Amino acid sequence: MQKYLEAVRENICKICVDSTDKGKCTLNKNEICAIEFYLPQIVEVVHQTNSEYVDDHYKILKEKVCSDCKTRDTEGHCFLKDDANCSLDRYFPIIVETIQKVDAGKI
Ligand code: SF4
Ligand code: SF4
Repeated sequence: MQKYLEAVRENICKICVDSTDKGKCTLNKNEICAIEFYLPQIVEVVHQTNSEYVDDHYKILKEKVCSDCKTRDTEGHCFLKDDANCSLDRYFPIIVETIQKVDAGKI
């Protein structure tokens, strides 16, 4: 999992709106990054989704990760997603690409 985490830090944290110019995360100790928190499940989703389309990965992500996330209400709404405040939702296409590049030995 470490190689995926390092790739996330290199490829996502550096462009994340919650990071400094140098890619250092600015979340405080009471905030959780959904990418880091759910990374094993995200990697599993990418590995299990047999599709080249990111929309297909996204659909499975919603079923396997968001359905268990406490931020989501009983009707399936997530205020963090609606406010573009979930890093996982915000950067999902790049996350999929990053995981696939790690698997291909490209990064
Ligand atoms: S919120 Fe997550 S993706 Fe963004 S900088 Fe922090 S650890 Fe990286
Ligand atoms: S989009 Fe919402 S429900 Fe899904 S992981 Fe992010 S915070 Fe959780």
